[in-house]
Amino acid sequence: MSELPRSFSHSSASTFKQCPRRWKHKYIDKLPDPTGEAALVGQFAHDVLEQLCKEESALRTEAKAKEIAASIWPKVAERKDFKNLNLNSEEQLAFRWKAWNAITGLWTLEDPSTVSVEATEQRVSTSLSGVPFFGIIDRLDRDGDGLVVVDYKTGKLPRYGNDNFNQVLLYAAAVASKTGEQPTKARLLYLGKETMETEVSVDLVNKVVGDLSDTWSQLKSNLDNDEFEPVTTPLCGWCSFVVKCPAGTKFIKKRASLGKLRSDAPARLALGL
Ligand code: SF4
Repeated sequence: MSELPRSFSHSSASTFKQCPRRWKHKYIDKLPDPTGEAALVGQFAHDVLEQLCKEESALRTEAKAKEIAASIWPKVAERKDFKNLNLNSEEQLAFRWKAWNAITGLWTLEDPSTVSVEATEQRVSTSLSGVPFFGIIDRLDRDGDGLVVVDYKTGKLPRYGNDNFNQVLLYAAAVASKTGEQPTKARLLYLGKETMETEVSVDLVNKVVGDLSDTWSQLKSNLDNDEFEPVTTPLCGWCSFVVKCPAGTKFIKKRASLGKLRSDAPARLALGL
């Protein structure tokens, strides 16, 4: 029987809820789960914005962001995950443009020189309703009403519901647990697209912490019984473990035969489709 993890992040909880077998391969078996191109673009943009928002407010300009991006780029290019993408020089240029568009997308949402930033990449580790929660908050701001939890997003805007609000609300709960000050707002900055925001109410926080606690209890039960059933969904097309998962392989092959598998799904390459 495997032991419970020492910490549980929103990302880990989401993976478990999406597919227990995927969670087991990632967090128990620790099989390689390389970061894909879209996520690497996002990390590059996050790193630049983190450095930018550490600068004093008057220096948070696009010119400064360009300088930071140029200084960080060699480290990105040296990353194993980046090298594994095997991008040619034209594709590398396109990668850099995608990251730059995400970075400059911040200015379409706010003027960072006017924001009161209290912390960037703030690590929070605390017990939420008995769950050892861990998270990294992109930015913690302060406005006239109090603390604001901010998370940058470089992906598409959600079409239905928004699990990302659960993430920032959990961060708000963790900040309150650590500091005693309850943030008043939780904000998602979809870079270049839209800002989404919610007030942090006691009801909302209790709900997300309750959901986290339920997921943790379910995880305990699965670990006790050593049960990690595969749950097939279109997301199998982006699962690094599809070749080790007969249910996922069968599902993806069927989708491909029906013309329903997206052309950019990494499972195509993994399964030779
Ligand atoms: S391929 Fe699909 S069913 Fe299999 S582990 Fe991955 S997400 Fe789960």
